[in-house]
Amino acid sequence: MLINNSKKIIIKLGSSTVVDSRGKFKKKWVSSLIKDIKNHRFGKNFVIVSSGAIALGQKYLKIKKKKIKLEMSQAIAAVGQIHLAGEFQKLFDKYKIKSGQILISPDDTEQRKRALNIRNTFDNLFKLNAIPIVNENDTTATSEIKYGDNDRLAARVAQIIGADTLIILSDVDGLYNKSKKIVKTVNKIDEKIYSLVDKKRNNYGSGGISTKLDAAKICMNSGCHMFLANGKKEHPLSKMFKKKMFTHFIPKISSLDARKKWIISSLSSSGIIFIDKGAASALQNGKSLLAAGITRVKGTFDKGENVLIIDNKGNQLARGLSSFKSSEIDKIKGKQSKEIEKILGYLGKSEIIHKDDMVKL
Ligand code: GLU
Repeated sequence: MLINNSKKIIIKLGSSTVVDSRGKFKKKWVSSLIKDIKNHRFGKNFVIVSSGAIALGQKYLKIKKKKIKLEMSQAIAAVGQIHLAGEFQKLFDKYKIKSGQILISPDDTEQRKRALNIRNTFDNLFKLNAIPIVNENDTTATSEIKYGDNDRLAARVAQIIGADTLIILSDVDGLYNKSKKIVKTVNKIDEKIYSLVDKKRNNYGSGGISTKLDAAKICMNSGCHMFLANGKKEHPLSKMFKKKMFTHFIPKISSLDARKKWIISSLSSSGIIFIDKGAASALQNGKSLLAAGITRVKGTFDKGENVLIIDNKGNQLARGLSSFKSSEIDKIKGKQSKEIEKILGYLGKSEIIHKDDMVKL
């Protein structure tokens, strides 16, 4: 069984998996999960990514409203997160397992230096034999800088820490096909798979199937297996593997190094660079992106930020780290590299995105 061969396993719990319909933390269910983890723990490192801060905060503060303004939900999450972490800690203590809380903001994963830093924090928690319990830092996240769903957050963490398995426990048995049967395995996320997305959403979770597919894409590019399974019943891990009830997203065999995996799995598309036919074929031949081939730039981004490169037909060709900020690219687009110094007033790099900083999609 795959879980036996995995060394780093992330378990992502949706809000409705850990919080019941009355807004209470599901102690019995979480205890059964911890027992499952304990049974499989030998030689492995587990991580929990749990939602539920806002749901628990609402219960504690007696706020029923479904639509809550972002500023208020930040405050509610602050109240709820302390309860969420406290509930986990009490239960892990009961089973004599150490745990630690990690709250993550998009900057922590989308800036390479900080991503390496959180990887170290996870590694050190593993050295301490403690299970990291992760959530988004909802209290500081504004709508522009927010993952908003823990599915993609969990996948990005999986990529950064080099996890081999991500198990998403939610309120569905897996991904259903058009005849309402569970798709057992997925090898590629394409239009056909996206057409299976059911627009229905549950009470608390902000994800739905669509963010689970986005998460699967990140995992598959990073060499991490992803399972989507039902977390309604107790002992969810032993049940899912005994009954073989899940959708298994199988990763591609990737020859990319860790840095390129990080570039391709970026969550933020701070900007888009549109390029002409000539530049597109240069890119396909493994060349860097020069200013001459750029036709348009969209969005505001800084030097070093992750941008998407799109050709004149709208095809997403590559992702890469820009060596110039968007306002500079706007001035030098279509120009020869030797003209850049005169236009910008300083001698920058001759490539807009160097081939080493770029991954083809
Ligand atoms: N971070 C949010 C919370 O803990 C949940 C995000 C999600 O639904 O995935 O309440």
